Amino acid sequence: MDEKFIVGVDIGGTWVRVAICTADLNEKNIKKRITATLKENEYSISKTVCEILSELLSENDIKQDQILGIGIATAGPLNIIKGEVFNNANLGFRVIPLKKPIKEIFPEIPMYFINDGIAGVLGVHFFEAEDNEKDNLVYISMSTGIGGGVICNGHLLLGKEGNAAEIGHALVEPKSIAKCNCGAYGCWEAYSSGTGVRNRALDALNEGELNAELLMQIVDNAKSHITAKEVFQAAQNGDQLSKKIIDDCVFYTKVGIGLVNSYYDCTSIYFGGAMMKDNQQIIPPLIEQFEKDPIRFTVNHPPKIKLTEYKDEIGLRGALALVKYKIENHKIIS
Ligand SMILES: [Zn+2]
Repeated sequence: MDEKFIVGVDIGGTWVRVAICTADLNEKNIKKRITATLKENEYSISKTVCEILSELLSENDIKQDQILGIGIATAGPLNIIKGEVFNNANLGFRVIPLKKPIKEIFPEIPMYFINDGIAGVLGVHFFEAEDNEKDNLVYISMSTGIGGGVICNGHLLLGKEGNAAEIGHALVEPKSIAKCNCGAYGCWEAYSSGTGVRNRALDALNEGELNAELLMQIVDNAKSHITAKEVFQAAQNGDQLSKKIIDDCVFYTKVGIGLVNSYYDCTSIYFGGAMMKDNQQIIPPLIEQFEKDPIRFTVNHPPKIKLTEYKDEIGLRGALALVKYKIENHKIIS
């Protein structure tokens, strides 16, 4: 009998990742590709996924009937039944169909959809969580946006359409004038995501009240070159404006963690996503806050705060784990 495989896809605001692995998900057998997220029209992403997957199949001499399933993790919100993304803040279109166009190219392969934050918690659950954490586990992604996934009482929380942990749009500052890409004001993501850090830095520059000499030096005086990376770099070197922006990023992440822990009473929260490149400026103050003085942010016993060792690949691993858990009818999704 031919060997069977599982496919995982992770669609983010910046990158699309595709992986194929043997059905046991032995990490030595994961083969993956990464490419920039195209936003030309609403079918650009599904086209990219089909092209990369076709390449991976032919390069590894794998046929469609050897694939047990495709797990598709995507930035949300999405409808996991229809297989389409809606109202996403960063992908560029109101509705982005995925299931229908991918099904046209791979008609026989079962497809499973999941919010990328929720995929993250599955990835942590399968690949790295300790046994005593697995039943009450949270994953938080800080990247272009902020997303999350929650396992509570041994059950993966999905919600009516699959967006049970859109925590990045938790309102952390209700009277805020900081606009989020979703259209609302004062979301956690508007302060603490990569886009949030950049946008808040630009707002503060326009206000002109804080010194930003160092930041402007780093970007050769071109405001348009500012991304979260430069703000973190300038903050580390003492830039006044950048320090204020990173302080806010961390403060509102404390608020976010507090909300999550008060709602779900979790054992551990794992952090991942592209912003963890600068985790030294984010994670230690979070750990200190929740070890020393959690009550300011949450009434429940505080969670352990950790970093996923798989960095921004954890969503992709979660997409693979989703298919494995579906096939096994694993108790956390049944
Ligand atoms: Zn928002």
